[in-house]
Amino acid sequence: MADYDPDNIFAKILREEIPSTRVFEDEETLAFMDIMPRADGHLLVIPKTPCRNVLDATPEQLAAVMRTVQKMAHAVKTAFNADGVTIQQFNEAAGGQEVFHLHFHVLPRHEGESMRPPGSMGDFDLIAQHAEKIKSVL
Ligand code: 5GP
Repeated sequence: MADYDPDNIFAKILREEIPSTRVFEDEETLAFMDIMPRADGHLLVIPKTPCRNVLDATPEQLAAVMRTVQKMAHAVKTAFNADGVTIQQFNEAAGGQEVFHLHFHVLPRHEGESMRPPGSMGDFDLIAQHAEKIKSVL
């Protein structure tokens, strides 16, 4: 497995070298909106310390991230009055991973509504509104 690349896009988001729409952070983790949302309210949770994915993460990194994943799952379910929540996580390119800093996707889901296909850039203002909705229930 390749080494962690400190110039991956999420490392740049953590260093605030590129903008992101943050919804929650604590000492160990950050939650921010996905720029190509596959459902309204789609967000990502990452550790603030470096690791590529589940395969090289420490138990402590995983525990911290999962605490925030659960918190954000409750938050998006409430904020969007969702029927369920999808949590996705990919490891290495063959596993579907595109950004090589550990992240979990958290998506509120509604009965009978499919996720949108991947790869479409979201509307910036709408994403910002969705972030405010999530923050208001935290
Ligand atoms: P994965 O590695 O889990 O397959 O996909 C990476 C995810 O990061 C995708 O859902 C994609 O939309 C999201 N993403 C990629 N670049 C950026 C970015 O610059 N900002 C944000 N907020 N999300 C991004």
